[in-house]
Amino acid sequence: MTGYIGLGSNVGDRLAHLRAGREGLGRAGAEVTACSGVYETAPVGEVSRQRDFLNACVAVETDLGAEELLDRCKALEREIGRRPVGPRHGPRPIDLDLLLLDDLECQGERLTLPHRDILTRRFVLLPLLELDPQLALPDGTRLVDALESVVDQRAERVADL
Ligand code: AMP
Repeated sequence: MTGYIGLGSNVGDRLAHLRAGREGLGRAGAEVTACSGVYETAPVGEVSRQRDFLNACVAVETDLGAEELLDRCKALEREIGRRPVGPRHGPRPIDLDLLLLDDLECQGERLTLPHRDILTRRFVLLPLLELDPQLALPDGTRLVDALESVVDQRAERVADL
């Protein structure tokens, strides 16, 4: 399966955390085949007074099933130092989100695919479009068409992953 995974960090050495995530995915059974740049972005959500995030996306090839890949991402988050509790959208050393996995669509308690925030986050759209300018959701929605509705969100490319 081909997948796209979003990485985010706003605690400690943010770039090192993203790179540890990228490297850890390979060991976890998701071979990274392409990396976007790294974007610095304003935090979104209810926890407003926190540091800017660094975000990036990677393309992966994997033989794992979706739930197994999610489990391995959660284990990798813990390995890189994320505590399992904390407010939603709160500060975190690493966040790994399954954004797209082939044309899978599911809405479960643990896993929603495509990820629910793809079309509303500039820091997800920009790196995904870097990886594939033609990328679309399984229902045909083109990511490039969603960009104009998120022009007010700050996301600046600051580094390579
Ligand atoms: P987060 O706070 O972003 O790490 O996500 C919290 C929860 O969202 C996780 O524990 C997952 O079970 C759930 N979740 C649902 N869909 C996804 C997805 N596509 N990728 C990652 N986590 C997901």
